[in-house]
Amino acid sequence: MPLDTDVQRQPMDAGAEAAGAFDAVIVGAGLAGLYMLHRLRQLGLSARAYEAGNGVGGTWHWNRYPGARCDVESMDYSYSFSDELQQEWTWTERYASQPEILRYINHVADRFDLRRDVQLSTRVTAAAFDEATNRWAVQTDRGDRVSAQFCIMATGCLSTAQVPPFKGLDTFAGRWYHTGHWPHEGVDFTGQRVGVIGTGSSAIQSIPLIARQAASLVVFQRTPNFSIPARNAPMDPEYERRLKANYAEYRRQARHSRVGFVVPTNEYSAMAAPPDVRHREYEDRWNRGGLGFTGAFSDLLIARESNDTAAEFFRAKIRAAVRDPAVAETLVPKGYPLGTKRMCVDTDYYDTFNRDNVTLVDVNATPIDAITPRGVRTRDAEHDLDSIVFATGFDAMTGALLGIDIRGRAGATLREKWAEGPRTYLGLAIAGFPNLFTVTGPGSPSVISNMIVSIEQHVDWIADCLAHLRAQGLGAIEATAAAEEAWVTHVNEVGHATLYPIANSWYMGANIPGKPRIFMPYVGGVGTYRQRCDDVAARGYEGFTLTSGR
Ligand code: NAP
Repeated sequence: MPLDTDVQRQPMDAGAEAAGAFDAVIVGAGLAGLYMLHRLRQLGLSARAYEAGNGVGGTWHWNRYPGARCDVESMDYSYSFSDELQQEWTWTERYASQPEILRYINHVADRFDLRRDVQLSTRVTAAAFDEATNRWAVQTDRGDRVSAQFCIMATGCLSTAQVPPFKGLDTFAGRWYHTGHWPHEGVDFTGQRVGVIGTGSSAIQSIPLIARQAASLVVFQRTPNFSIPARNAPMDPEYERRLKANYAEYRRQARHSRVGFVVPTNEYSAMAAPPDVRHREYEDRWNRGGLGFTGAFSDLLIARESNDTAAEFFRAKIRAAVRDPAVAETLVPKGYPLGTKRMCVDTDYYDTFNRDNVTLVDVNATPIDAITPRGVRTRDAEHDLDSIVFATGFDAMTGALLGIDIRGRAGATLREKWAEGPRTYLGLAIAGFPNLFTVTGPGSPSVISNMIVSIEQHVDWIADCLAHLRAQGLGAIEATAAAEEAWVTHVNEVGHATLYPIANSWYMGANIPGKPRIFMPYVGGVGTYRQRCDDVAARGYEGFTLTSGR
């Protein structure tokens, strides 16, 4: 796998390096880590952010595959914490591309002078809590040994790329790539025979572009996805002007919405609508494009009967788009409800399968036996390839955290604690791990929401919490086991009241062999969740134990 080898460490602040002691260590310098750093600075706390990549940006630093772009609209997928920033920045398209988002994040890093506290090309490998001092001892792969009162994990939900353990990968004579680890210089597939394994969001974005460049493309599909057209377009200046004139109110609505951006939602069941009205609603949303489709009716993710009407609508669209009926049928998702695996947003995805140079292989019918020196061997054919693209996803939500040797009270490890699946209080804190926070951790809306809205909410909550501790002269905060247990139960109950757990999704850990099957995000709604977190703080950090001393 191509690695981020261009090491560009930045010098540490001399005083801090000498002391090796910070108020807080932040792990990760993506959207979450950078904003956390900004908030800590405002509080007058010293902080060091460690970032494994050789640049800031997290997800947007790593995922440089062809067609990478956000599927939440750019006016929504941007920081709201600074009105000057949101007024001065201009997005060029309805959905921002990866290069544009990365430019934006770099702009933010410069504008708020964040880089001087970010150490790049440095991976945190271990963090251990010292009960005597209430401090974390943090180690990195470059030999740093520092201590911090607070350890804040801004490690991302989809940052640990997974390449399935196919037999023979090391024998492949061509080149291979993972979408989440794409070479910075890009890849030219011109004239090549390319294979893409996987048909999730990353694949669905990259396949149309790879197909246009490559001599031939073979797509290896395990589970077909529901994908809706993005209808991307240049930013409408009038829309931008109107929205910016009213940005504060627009952001407020997003923060209190169900998914972190405003989706016009009909508050009644799909079954309550006559079939022609229902169809028109779906057609309108399909034509508008994007993830707002699931707001068509209130119960699409709750009632199977309602969901089936939407799923059937998608299936008809796929059959109409793909000329070869057998190929169309293979692309039609069946067996799980629409939206219970992350819905995809595409440009020309289905039409790509009408190209002469594109072949679809159903790996359920003909499983991949091995990667060979020549390409991919399925049960009934060998596909000769020059390059293989693994669009096979991530060890989502827990992978990055469990990749670090985190030890809390009495040396207990997070890996042991989460052996049966993640357990948190509010997705923010973990019993037995005082002064450790997880930004958009499992048990919070995170991946079910507009990530940046959830990131800002968590960062603000953590910053307010630290300010409270400082103001009260308190040294440690820790979730109680009882509060954690109650939250885990609640997250489960809410999740299991929906259709989500039916699908074999990465929300359930189902994409990683051996990973516990737990529905990890909180689907109670972004606004509801925010209120819960605010109430916890307002009640003096209910469910936490606060102790004195520094
Ligand atoms: P993904 O959704 O997990 O898709 C991985 C694909 O690889 C799936 O089709 C999966 O099949 C397949 N796969 C995994 N292991 C396999 C194996 N052993 N053999 C055959 N196929 C295998 O990963 P992703 O596409 O990178 O997307 C992950 C998430 O990142 C998205 O859901 C989304 O939240 C986010 N994302 C967002 C955007 C955006 O904003 N536009 C773009 C990309 C990603 P199964 O379904 O059968 O497991």
